[in-house]
Amino acid sequence: MRRLSADYIFPIASEPIKNGVITVDADGTIVSVEKPADGVKAEYYKGIICPGFINTHCHLELSHMRSRIPEKLGMAGFIKSIVTERTRLSEEQLQDAIAAAEKEMIDNGIVAVGDISNNNSTFRQKAKGNILYHTFIEVFDLNPHKAQASFAAGLTLQQELSGLNLRSSIVPHAPYTVSENLLELIDAHAAKTKGIVSIHNQESKAESELFISHSGPIYEAFKAMGINTAVLRETGVNALKSTLPHLKNASNLLLVHNTYTTREDIKWAKEIMEKREGEMGNENISNLTSPISHLYWCTCPNANLYIENTLPDYNNFIAAKVLVTIGTDSLASNWSLSVLDELKTISTYYPDIPLQTLLLWATGNGAALLGLNHLGTLEKGKKPGLNLLTGIEEMKITKATKVTRLL
Ligand SMILES: [Zn+2]
Repeated sequence: MRRLSADYIFPIASEPIKNGVITVDADGTIVSVEKPADGVKAEYYKGIICPGFINTHCHLELSHMRSRIPEKLGMAGFIKSIVTERTRLSEEQLQDAIAAAEKEMIDNGIVAVGDISNNNSTFRQKAKGNILYHTFIEVFDLNPHKAQASFAAGLTLQQELSGLNLRSSIVPHAPYTVSENLLELIDAHAAKTKGIVSIHNQESKAESELFISHSGPIYEAFKAMGINTAVLRETGVNALKSTLPHLKNASNLLLVHNTYTTREDIKWAKEIMEKREGEMGNENISNLTSPISHLYWCTCPNANLYIENTLPDYNNFIAAKVLVTIGTDSLASNWSLSVLDELKTISTYYPDIPLQTLLLWATGNGAALLGLNHLGTLEKGKKPGLNLLTGIEEMKITKATKVTRLL
């Protein structure tokens, strides 16, 4: 048994406890989280203690691309760059970069990762079990006739992961890189497997221009890349509205980035999801073995600054009371793999967001999205890892805030 205490404990599932005491057993499982009591001795830390962080969006397989793509290219420029820069390294160099990136996440207090994979290059590292991964096997192809082949490649990767006892689901890359046929295959598979689906959403203005009017920088970039523009969908509505109606069966759905998502978009998406839950009926809901489909909004602020030099308007998400999670994206579009660094950026631009809210985004919401019920909050019986945050001033994360893993 170990007893730990700090200036504040943030259980996340409940209000912060001043000088609270956490008791854990030998394997890190929480025995109790209590208010301070006379005569109870504990290891005392200056700072706050919160659960281990959950990174809900990463591309570990791009870890060798640190500092390789110039900043602020915009999404169309980034896509062009990543296609040309995704050069082959030796297998050893690639594996070293992946292992180093994982270690960086562990050192930064991350205990679980929702990680995008286009191939199997990270599987060996994931199988070591240093961090808990849910792999989002990402498929894309604009040609409707190639939907089957690209989905089949995803299935092969999924079999490989199951063989290694690793969790996964098959997901679309982004609204503008998949055909309707491919979306349908993904959705049918999600229905069968109760899959968690993630999709990049509204990371740039350009992707909506493509759907609304077959124009804009992504449309032009695709044309320049020799893609047959006849296969691009022109729906007259933005990327989110062109895609969400096709994703009906995910057990949980994660929209990633949402940089250009408006207040009206959030309201629209929330209504669709609530209507779906309503249609399932109370009776059916109680029969489900997985939670009913919930919508989560992942933000990767540093990647947004890196690529588009802009941020989502967080006030819209807070006002709509939706579930927000944090992602680091990859080292191709970020300076670090640190959930705390993401929170620092949000805190700098939105100093009024309470610490409890930021930490909920960084812990409990991510764990719920990934169905990792033993993580994300400090509660009896859970084993969420413990992070100590120092350099907090007046209950705000500052540039000087540091994270240390206590467990
Ligand atoms: Zn991404």
